[in-house]
Amino acid sequence: MTAPTDVELRLVPFLDLHGVTDEVRDEVLARWSAEVLDDSAFIGGETVTTFESAFARYCGTDHAVGVANGTDALQLALRAMGIGPGDDVIVPANTFVATAEAVVLAGARPRFADVDPATLLLTPETVAAAVTPLTRAVIVVHLYGQMPDMEALVECASRLDIALVEDAAQAQGATWGGRKAGSFGVAGCFSFYPGKNLGAWGDAGAVVTSDPDLDQRLRSMRDHGRSDSHYQHVMLGTNSRLDALQAVVLTAKLERLDSWNQARRELMAQYRDLIDPAGAVPVAALAGGEGVHHLAVVRVRNRAEVQRELASLGVVTGIHYPTPCHLMTPYAACARRPLPESERAAEEVMSLPMFPHLQPDDVAYVARKLNDVAARLARS
Ligand SMILES: *Cc1c(COP(=O)(O)O)cnc(C)c1O
Repeated sequence: MTAPTDVELRLVPFLDLHGVTDEVRDEVLARWSAEVLDDSAFIGGETVTTFESAFARYCGTDHAVGVANGTDALQLALRAMGIGPGDDVIVPANTFVATAEAVVLAGARPRFADVDPATLLLTPETVAAAVTPLTRAVIVVHLYGQMPDMEALVECASRLDIALVEDAAQAQGATWGGRKAGSFGVAGCFSFYPGKNLGAWGDAGAVVTSDPDLDQRLRSMRDHGRSDSHYQHVMLGTNSRLDALQAVVLTAKLERLDSWNQARRELMAQYRDLIDPAGAVPVAALAGGEGVHHLAVVRVRNRAEVQRELASLGVVTGIHYPTPCHLMTPYAACARRPLPESERAAEEVMSLPMFPHLQPDDVAYVARKLNDVAARLARS
């Protein structure tokens, strides 16, 4: 009698933030006490400007404006650029819904563009195919933490005479040609939702720009359209300020972001080495840039079964995203034509566990089980 061989079971969460939280916990609590609580400086103030300067420097831009979340970063950037009713803005169909939502919230209309089948990102061709005479801008999304060919897209936007805005919510620290995400567009928009590569302990976001006028308009807009004088409101604004408590968290985490992104790169390289492409194909990486692997996305057939079997083996997976934006109810009126690559991707993409403190042993386990499950399903 031989003992059963396949009794190995590991619990591998999709995302576990304890590691990153623990690295900054003591520093944040001390600074919260000394710089926020002792001064009762809860909104704005030095903690916020300190983070804004550090983040602008990190991104290679002249300015960073802290806001309440990533959706506001996008919406306010568009509004501050004068984009609104009567304008079209191109967005990829394969993105988190907030990219399209922000366009509608700004009063403009999304025009959905398809994506490249290998990278699942915009290309100059898919952007050009979506352009209309009313198009004012394109929002390039660095989905999963990877930037598309930015030289080609900047050139394409300038040829089409439209502005380029970056949705870098998943790409803090990613580069193209050595230049950071956020520094290519008129504005670079970031979310610091807790699960992003740079995440707050709550909601937060920022817009980076090197345009001094845009910076000033954004500062006014996030604070009720205020001018320098507290009760003079010179434009229609909103309340979208960055909390001092969150700025302290973000400053502490920014110092560690490069090492966390490096850990993600090593884990992703391990996935690529170990995953058998006969069963699951990782989203392609472009040679011109360095991604930060917010998500580790593969494409599989029989996704529902693969996910179910992996779950029974302790491995939690996700789907980013199950429905392309142009097929969601609120955006149906903007869906002018089929976008086959985005629609196919939505059926096949599956996200594997990925976070900086994930263990190489766990990656090896996930890859082994994924290969087994995919091979078994292919035979049945
Ligand atoms: C998270 C995210 C957003 C929105 O950010 P919030 O902070 O949740 O408003 C926008 N775009 C993309 C691609 C995202 O991943």
